[in-house]
Amino acid sequence: MSNRTCEMCDQGLLIKTNVIDNVDFKDKVLRVHSAFLQCNFCGCIELSDEYAKQNNRALNLAKKEALGLLVGEKIRLVREKLNLTQSEASILFGGGKLAFTKYEHDDVIQSKAMNTLIEAADQVPEFFKYLVSKSELSASSKEKFQDNYVDIHLNVDYRERPSLYVMSNSHNFETDANGYIELKEEVA
Ligand SMILES: [Zn+2]
Repeated sequence: MSNRTCEMCDQGLLIKTNVIDNVDFKDKVLRVHSAFLQCNFCGCIELSDEYAKQNNRALNLAKKEALGLLVGEKIRLVREKLNLTQSEASILFGGGKLAFTKYEHDDVIQSKAMNTLIEAADQVPEFFKYLVSKSELSASSKEKFQDNYVDIHLNVDYRERPSLYVMSNSHNFETDANGYIELKEEVA
Protein backbone atom coordinates (compact mmCIF):
# COMPACT_ATOMS: atom_id res chain seq x y z
CA MET A 1 0.00 0.00 0.00
CA SER A 2 1.58 3.25 -1.09
CA ASN A 3 1.48 6.20 1.26
CA ARG A 4 -0.80 9.06 0.36
CA THR A 5 0.43 12.61 0.12
CA CYS A 6 -0.62 14.84 2.99
CA GLU A 7 -3.45 17.17 1.98
CA MET A 8 -2.51 19.72 4.60
CA CYS A 9 1.00 20.55 3.41
CA ASP A 10 1.00 18.81 0.04
CA GLN A 11 4.63 17.77 0.64
CA GLY A 12 4.82 15.00 3.20
CA LEU A 13 3.54 11.45 3.12
CA LEU A 14 0.99 9.99 5.54
CA ILE A 15 2.74 7.20 7.44
CA LYS A 16 1.06 4.66 9.70
CA THR A 17 2.15 5.40 13.25
CA ASN A 18 1.66 3.11 16.25
CA VAL A 19 1.77 4.46 19.75
CA ILE A 20 1.01 3.22 23.22
CA ASP A 21 -1.27 5.64 25.06
CA ASN A 22 -1.37 5.80 28.82
CA VAL A 23 -5.05 6.19 29.60
CA ASP A 24 -6.23 7.13 33.07
CA PHE A 25 -9.11 4.87 33.97
CA LYS A 26 -10.51 4.83 37.48
CA ASP A 27 -7.54 4.21 39.76
CA LYS A 28 -5.46 2.63 37.00
CA VAL A 29 -3.37 3.68 34.04
CA LEU A 30 -4.15 1.54 31.02
CA ARG A 31 -1.55 1.04 28.32
CA VAL A 32 -3.46 1.00 25.07
CA HIS A 33 -2.15 0.57 21.55
CA SER A 34 -3.44 2.98 18.99
CA ALA A 35 -2.65 3.74 15.39
CA PHE A 36 -3.16 6.67 13.06
CA LEU A 37 -1.66 8.25 9.95
CA GLN A 38 0.83 11.02 10.47
CA CYS A 39 2.46 13.31 7.93
CA ASN A 40 6.23 12.94 7.93
CA PHE A 41 6.63 16.58 6.91
CA CYS A 42 4.13 18.76 8.79
CA GLY A 43 3.26 16.25 11.49
CA CYS A 44 -0.49 16.52 11.14
CA ILE A 45 -2.52 13.49 12.11
CA GLU A 46 -5.28 11.79 10.19
CA LEU A 47 -7.49 9.23 11.92
CA SER A 48 -9.39 7.09 9.43
CA ASP A 49 -12.65 5.39 10.41
CA GLU A 50 -10.85 2.07 10.29
CA TYR A 51 -8.12 3.13 12.71
CA ALA A 52 -10.64 4.87 14.95
CA LYS A 53 -12.59 1.61 15.17
CA GLN A 54 -9.48 -0.44 15.92
CA ASN A 55 -8.34 2.05 18.55
CA ASN A 56 -11.76 2.03 20.18
CA ARG A 57 -11.69 -1.77 20.32
CA ALA A 58 -8.24 -1.78 21.92
CA LEU A 59 -9.41 0.74 24.50
CA ASN A 60 -12.57 -1.22 25.30
CA LEU A 61 -10.55 -4.41 25.66
CA ALA A 62 -8.21 -2.77 28.15
CA LYS A 63 -11.16 -1.36 30.09
CA LYS A 64 -12.87 -4.75 30.22
CA GLU A 65 -9.70 -6.26 31.64
CA ALA A 66 -9.41 -3.47 34.19
CA LEU A 67 -13.05 -3.94 35.21
CA GLY A 68 -12.69 -7.71 35.49
CA LEU A 69 -15.20 -8.24 32.69
CA LEU A 70 -15.03 -10.93 30.02
CA VAL A 71 -13.14 -9.72 26.94
CA GLY A 72 -14.73 -10.22 23.52
CA GLU A 73 -12.68 -13.28 22.66
CA LYS A 74 -13.71 -14.97 25.91
CA ILE A 75 -17.37 -14.17 25.30
CA ARG A 76 -17.10 -15.80 21.89
CA LEU A 77 -15.59 -18.94 23.45
CA VAL A 78 -18.36 -19.16 26.06
CA ARG A 79 -21.04 -18.64 23.42
CA GLU A 80 -19.56 -21.36 21.21
CA LYS A 81 -19.24 -23.71 24.18
CA LEU A 82 -22.94 -23.17 24.89
CA ASN A 83 -23.67 -23.92 21.22
CA LEU A 84 -25.34 -20.57 20.64
CA THR A 85 -25.24 -18.44 17.52
CA GLN A 86 -24.67 -14.72 18.06
CA SER A 87 -28.31 -13.99 17.38
CA GLU A 88 -29.50 -16.78 19.72
CA ALA A 89 -27.23 -15.42 22.44
CA SER A 90 -28.74 -11.97 21.96
CA ILE A 91 -32.26 -13.40 22.30
CA LEU A 92 -31.27 -15.44 25.35
CA PHE A 93 -29.33 -12.82 27.27
CA GLY A 94 -30.84 -9.64 25.85
CA GLY A 95 -28.93 -6.50 25.00
CA GLY A 96 -30.32 -5.93 21.53
CA LYS A 97 -30.13 -7.77 18.24
CA LEU A 98 -26.43 -7.19 17.56
CA ALA A 99 -25.32 -7.27 21.18
CA PHE A 100 -23.04 -10.28 20.90
CA THR A 101 -21.47 -9.15 17.65
CA LYS A 102 -20.53 -5.94 19.43
CA TYR A 103 -19.40 -7.59 22.66
CA GLU A 104 -17.24 -10.10 20.83
CA HIS A 105 -15.52 -7.43 18.74
CA ASP A 106 -15.04 -5.27 21.81
CA ASP A 107 -17.06 -2.53 20.12
CA VAL A 108 -19.17 -2.33 23.26
CA ILE A 109 -18.46 -3.01 26.92
CA GLN A 110 -21.13 -5.25 28.42
CA SER A 111 -22.69 -4.26 31.72
CA LYS A 112 -21.66 -5.97 34.92
CA ALA A 113 -25.12 -7.55 35.03
CA MET A 114 -24.76 -8.92 31.50
CA ASN A 115 -21.28 -10.19 32.36
CA THR A 116 -22.65 -12.04 35.39
CA LEU A 117 -25.40 -13.62 33.29
CA ILE A 118 -22.92 -14.89 30.72
CA GLU A 119 -20.56 -16.27 33.37
CA ALA A 120 -23.43 -17.94 35.22
CA ALA A 121 -24.73 -19.56 32.04
CA ASP A 122 -21.20 -20.81 31.40
CA GLN A 123 -20.60 -22.19 34.87
CA VAL A 124 -23.99 -23.34 36.10
CA PRO A 125 -25.71 -25.72 33.64
CA GLU A 126 -28.94 -25.62 35.60
CA PHE A 127 -29.05 -21.85 35.22
CA PHE A 128 -28.40 -22.08 31.49
CA LYS A 129 -31.25 -24.56 31.21
CA TYR A 130 -33.49 -22.16 33.10
CA LEU A 131 -32.56 -19.25 30.82
CA VAL A 132 -33.28 -21.32 27.71
CA SER A 133 -36.66 -22.42 29.06
CA LYS A 134 -37.62 -18.82 29.85
CA SER A 135 -36.30 -17.38 26.61
CA GLU A 136 -38.04 -16.47 23.39
CA LEU A 137 -35.79 -18.76 21.40
CA SER A 138 -37.60 -20.69 18.68
CA ALA A 139 -38.72 -24.24 19.41
CA SER A 140 -36.06 -25.60 17.06
CA SER A 141 -33.36 -23.57 18.82
CA LYS A 142 -34.52 -24.87 22.19
CA GLU A 143 -34.53 -28.41 20.90
CA LYS A 144 -30.83 -28.45 20.18
CA PHE A 145 -30.12 -27.89 23.88
CA GLN A 146 -32.06 -30.93 25.04
CA ASP A 147 -28.99 -33.17 24.98
CA ASN A 148 -27.06 -30.67 27.05
CA TYR A 149 -29.53 -31.13 29.89
CA VAL A 150 -29.00 -34.83 30.45
CA ASP A 151 -26.05 -34.77 32.85
CA ILE A 152 -27.00 -31.69 34.75
CA HIS A 153 -27.87 -33.42 38.00
CA LEU A 154 -24.84 -35.68 38.12
CA ASN A 155 -22.12 -34.96 40.63
CA VAL A 156 -22.58 -31.25 40.69
CA ASP A 157 -22.38 -29.55 44.01
CA TYR A 158 -23.83 -26.11 43.44
CA ARG A 159 -22.63 -24.90 46.80
CA GLU A 160 -19.19 -24.82 45.21
CA ARG A 161 -20.47 -22.71 42.37
CA PRO A 162 -20.27 -18.94 42.28
CA SER A 163 -23.38 -17.45 43.78
CA LEU A 164 -25.92 -16.16 41.36
CA TYR A 165 -26.80 -12.58 41.72
CA VAL A 166 -27.27 -9.73 39.34
CA MET A 167 -25.81 -6.47 40.38
CA SER A 168 -27.97 -3.43 39.99
CA ASN A 169 -26.51 -0.52 38.07
CA SER A 170 -23.44 0.56 39.89
CA HIS A 171 -22.92 4.27 40.10
CA ASN A 172 -20.22 4.43 37.44
CA PHE A 173 -22.40 2.91 34.81
CA GLU A 174 -25.27 4.12 32.78
CA THR A 175 -27.00 1.99 30.20
CA ASP A 176 -28.61 3.40 27.12
CA ALA A 177 -31.95 2.40 25.63
CA ASN A 178 -30.49 -0.81 24.24
CA GLY A 179 -28.96 -1.83 27.52
CA TYR A 180 -25.45 -0.98 26.35
CA ILE A 181 -23.19 0.43 28.91
CA GLU A 182 -21.73 3.84 28.59
CA LEU A 183 -18.60 4.34 30.61
CA LYS A 184 -18.23 7.83 31.88
CA GLU A 185 -14.75 9.12 31.38
CA GLU A 186 -13.44 10.74 34.46
CA VAL A 187 -12.49 14.28 33.70
CA ALA A 188 -9.33 15.36 35.45
ZN1 LIG B 1 1.71 17.35 5.98
